[in-house]
Amino acid sequence: SAEEHQDFVRRIVADDVAAGKCPDGVATRFPPEPNGYLHLGHAKSICLNFGIAEEFGGRCNLRFDDTNPEKEDEEYVESIRQDIRWLGFEWDRECFASDYFEQLFEWGLALIDKGHAYVCELNGEEIRRTRGTLTEPGEASPYRDRPAAESRDLFQRMRAGEFPDGSRVLRAKIDMAHPNLNLRDPVLYRIRRAHHHRTGDAWPIYPTYDYTHGQSDSIEKITHSVCTLEFENHRPLYDWFIEKLEIFPSRQYEFARLNLEYTLMSKRRLIQLVTEGHVRGWDDPRLPTLRGIRRRGVPAEAIRNFCRTIGVTKFDSVTDYALFEHCVRDVMNRDCSRAMAVLDPIPVTITNFGEDEELEVEAVNNPEKPEAGARKVPFSNRIFIERSDFMENPPKKFFRLSPGSEVRLRYAYVLRCDGVEKDEAGNIVGLTASVDRDTLGKQPEGRKVKGVIHWVSQQHAIPAEVRLYDRLYSVPNPGAERDPVEDLNPESLKIIEGYLEPSLGEIPNGESVQFERTGYFARDPDSSPDRPVFNRTVTLKDSWGK
Ligand code: ATP
Ligand code: MG
Ligand code: MG
Repeated sequence: SAEEHQDFVRRIVADDVAAGKCPDGVATRFPPEPNGYLHLGHAKSICLNFGIAEEFGGRCNLRFDDTNPEKEDEEYVESIRQDIRWLGFEWDRECFASDYFEQLFEWGLALIDKGHAYVCELNGEEIRRTRGTLTEPGEASPYRDRPAAESRDLFQRMRAGEFPDGSRVLRAKIDMAHPNLNLRDPVLYRIRRAHHHRTGDAWPIYPTYDYTHGQSDSIEKITHSVCTLEFENHRPLYDWFIEKLEIFPSRQYEFARLNLEYTLMSKRRLIQLVTEGHVRGWDDPRLPTLRGIRRRGVPAEAIRNFCRTIGVTKFDSVTDYALFEHCVRDVMNRDCSRAMAVLDPIPVTITNFGEDEELEVEAVNNPEKPEAGARKVPFSNRIFIERSDFMENPPKKFFRLSPGSEVRLRYAYVLRCDGVEKDEAGNIVGLTASVDRDTLGKQPEGRKVKGVIHWVSQQHAIPAEVRLYDRLYSVPNPGAERDPVEDLNPESLKIIEGYLEPSLGEIPNGESVQFERTGYFARDPDSSPDRPVFNRTVTLKDSWGK
């Protein structure tokens, strides 16, 4: 029920609504900085913010937190829009913190006039040095008590571009001995002649994150501003601005960020992987970027289910990778059509089936979904089976193929292995076999055949490039012991040649299927009409909860 799924943030929202604290409705926002592509961690925040708005009949804004012009770009803005829509959400208003620059500047003047801010001429290094430590109070800036009128004049001249970069800052005047270092006269504005992707060269000064974030929330009348735990000790500052400026009282709440085993999600790390060429690009299917995950074939619904399953708490933890895969399989098992593909073939010649004989067997598309119907699969006297489905000297209870034994070919006949062909080095290069003609779609008389294997007809098969992905890092906590680049899994991508049943030649790029007994695969945009490329999204074997 809805109650059951209620986490501490949703309980706060529900209580506020019940207490009449949100007369204009619940309002949330998702505030990405347009300096990179969204990743699975962002999906947690997206599901939370948009989810709350949906559940409480409120609204959720998409706000680009674009106050760091050097690292930001329009390319990221567009990709963020696309990724949120792909995840299945639509925002109420699209906002940019940079649209508030004028208002934020006015509020800077207001703080100066009220005696709550001053222009300081110490440089960055001096400010850091005089800030004190957890055990030592900070030292007041010599500019702290300059008259408000002087600060007002200087702040306006900073904006007019009269001073060189880094020569002055605007600081809040709070308490240089405050136990929370964020309240020791934090910097609100810096002089930085940087070209901004939206405001161009209009501003030689830029506001800091802390000064911008809460006021942007307030301008948009955000009722619940949820962010990750590392901002918990910024909250007193968030509240201080709202109180001193006497503006709409948005409230901040913090939750634990998503950490996933075998995965690093910080943008800095992702950028490094892309620029150093450890992966093929932002949408490399091994990356936790939403683009990479999507290209790999993971359905958006699986990500939403995953985010619901992990829930929202106030305690940092690391989520089991198997849980993510479990959520992926769950949706793909329900939705994906089945088809046969042999990824590591042994050729089998069926001696009692005619060279020119034609047969198409009927195969069910999805046992979970009867409306998906059935298809025809061509059979012939030469097929491929999976190398792992044959053993020359099998142990007991090996129910697949071995010399003299029988196995069922899925949707077709019972097959008996009559002979093994080897090359000079002793490698198995083919099998000869025969089928029992009385077993098409039925059990043989008088004996039980336990195993069922998949196959494709050699002359009808479509050769394809198949990309088998494994975890990008080989350790659960990459970077814990050394440079995370050294923890990269050298086997994270293996490219093989596979043979597909003909129906797989017709599916569009981006679509996913289950290769029976092997895994879920998505057709990659690198496919060409005569050469499909498939990405393995996930194998079939579920280890979650085991
Ligand atoms: P990164 O550390 O990857 O650079 P960020 O927090 O700097 O991420 P933003 O673009 O500022 O990236 O993030 C937008 C929103 O997404 C923020 O509210 C942030 O708290 C949230 N977010 C980012 N990473 C995670 C995560 N791993 N789990 C949950 N929320 C996250
Ligand atoms: Mg950020
Ligand atoms: Mg960051």
